Amino acid sequence: MDARRRQEIEAKVAAGERLSFDDGVELYGCTDLSWLGGLAHSVRTAKNGDRVVFNVNRHLNLTNVCSASCAYCSFQRKPGEADAYTMRAEEAVRLARQMEPEEITELHIVNGLHPTLPWRYYPRVLRELKAALPGVALKAFTATEIHWFERISGLSAEAILDELIDAGLESLTGGGAEIFDWEIRKQIVDHETHWEDWSRIHRLAHGKGLRTPATMLYGHIEEPRHRVDHVLRLRDLQDETGGFIVFIPLRYQHDAVRDPRNRLQDRTEMATPAEALKTFAVSRLLLDNVDHLKCFWVMHGLSTAQLSLNFGVDDLDGSVVEYKITHDADQYGTPTTMHRADLLELIRDAGFRPVERDTRYRTIREYDGPDPTRRDQPQPVWG
Ligand code: SF4
Repeated sequence: MDARRRQEIEAKVAAGERLSFDDGVELYGCTDLSWLGGLAHSVRTAKNGDRVVFNVNRHLNLTNVCSASCAYCSFQRKPGEADAYTMRAEEAVRLARQMEPEEITELHIVNGLHPTLPWRYYPRVLRELKAALPGVALKAFTATEIHWFERISGLSAEAILDELIDAGLESLTGGGAEIFDWEIRKQIVDHETHWEDWSRIHRLAHGKGLRTPATMLYGHIEEPRHRVDHVLRLRDLQDETGGFIVFIPLRYQHDAVRDPRNRLQDRTEMATPAEALKTFAVSRLLLDNVDHLKCFWVMHGLSTAQLSLNFGVDDLDGSVVEYKITHDADQYGTPTTMHRADLLELIRDAGFRPVERDTRYRTIREYDGPDPTRRDQPQPVWG
């Protein structure tokens, strides 16, 4: 990217002008990471100051049995496989209750597309969780799962959402998005939910007052132009509904112990930390109408998560327990659990001010920023 184009883009960003598809693709070609980070950081700071929001949550996967076989997924199991499981509602409640001492504020629930579980199972589990933990928000189900529920129940997505909301649903999750471009999508996704249905279901949820996250799975066979296309589709939909609260780029994971289910591994290199930071920065610059950008630290590692806070990110998810989707065999040393104190330490150590939020991004508690005297000492990030 030459100096003239940089100046043009700087001027657009300074004027609050929207960046184009071509701008986005060119930004991905930029090799000056510090310039790119600085630009994204200016946008992030204007939107969110020095705040880094986090929440204290638990991930729950009610079943790993799935009718689909997506090419990036190590989580899926077929019926009858030795480690296939499906939880009874009581088991889900028991696991959620284990986290009560941590004062969790959210359960994040995503699941396989189980071929024989009846639709009624899902609202029943939500109702039992809500009765057991009334103060905990239920963020549950991808648009892909809602589409699956339409198929197994014969009900419309509208009726399904109404029942789930009545059972306690506070937000959908942002998954199932992967990469919307069909040329890529048809090679990696093995279910029937594509942009048309994914966007239809989020639009419906927004119309019912839910605010939802949106994700993008990157770092596999897609090219930068596919990432830009993905983000701009979301930007257009956000113009229409205003319902997206956060955008979450998810780095495609290789398994340290080879898993034949994760079939993209043979064809790809995992995205480097530099590529991850670039993806955060370009996403922040393009997506001018979504307030928050999240780094899901489980899929990026803690050091990259800290750095990402200087590349547009203002949200670190969460105190995850038992994260499994795309991450079933991680042996790279990234923990799967962080407690509140660990998150505070991580954020402060990167030089930012931690703010605990709820599922709707309302502030639960503001914390002090970093202690300046601490910077004189080497600070271990973890362990
Ligand atoms: S990503 Fe989801 S839908 Fe695809 S195989 Fe894995 S569990 Fe099933």
